[in-house]
Amino acid sequence: MRLILLGPPGAGKGTQAQRIVEKFGIPQLSTGDMLRAAVSAGTDVGKRAKAVMDAGKLVSDDIVIAIVSERIDQPDCAKGFILDGFPRTLVQADATDAMLKAKGLDLSKVLEIKVNDEVLADRVSGRYTCANCGAGYHDTNLRPRQEGVCDRCGSTHFKRRPDDNRETVVTRLQAYYKETSPLIGYYHAKGKLASVDGMADIDRVTSDIEKILESA
Ligand code: ADP
Ligand code: ADP
Ligand code: ZN
Repeated sequence: MRLILLGPPGAGKGTQAQRIVEKFGIPQLSTGDMLRAAVSAGTDVGKRAKAVMDAGKLVSDDIVIAIVSERIDQPDCAKGFILDGFPRTLVQADATDAMLKAKGLDLSKVLEIKVNDEVLADRVSGRYTCANCGAGYHDTNLRPRQEGVCDRCGSTHFKRRPDDNRETVVTRLQAYYKETSPLIGYYHAKGKLASVDGMADIDRVTSDIEKILESA
């Protein structure tokens, strides 16, 4: 199964991707996570991407296309993968098409998570993750069962992203509408698009996605 998750920052892509990973056993390929890893490691790509990411703008197409193209050749992607946060531009979408074609692979579905703009600033500014295992949480919407302890791995260390503040959300949302939202029409025209209501609670969104995937 090869999936793409589409939606604005804070829509719930990462949250749902983690659940699809558990249920279907295919890896989550988040270009945001891969770029943040490159920034932490201080690689050339990381150095070029850091300021752009901090400002809430999009990293250049060639960089992210190269990262994904290399990643999907890894053995753990043989049974499929979830692209989370990629493609984000029409150039990236065409490149994805070409990449899959060259490998003789087909795209299963593109899941669009729809949300109202008003909730996104709260979702993004309340977001944090486990520093050890990457499990995602939210200050009010999704708290660990025991305060300060990760449900999944028991770690007590958490982190927040430098770009998860109300100021960058505006820039990121503009980038989404300008560059990424055209992909909704692009995949609709290819007969690949399915949309879910991302305003529903997290478990409900998961079950809506599972229904779509079972019939895919
Ligand atoms: P994205 O990957 O699309 O940017 P995330 O999955 O990281 O978004 O979700 C952003 C924040 O909102 C996280 O803190 C997450 O816990 C929370 N969240 C995700 N889905 C929902 C939902 N359906 N209702 C309320 N909060 C949600
Ligand atoms: P969110 O889940 O909040 O939308 P991501 O973690 O996916 O955020 O992305 C964080 C930042 O990384 C983006 O604002 C952008 O600078 C960069 N980025 C991630 N994926 C891409 C991509 N496919 N194309 C260009 N830039 C990207
Ligand atoms: Zn953890």
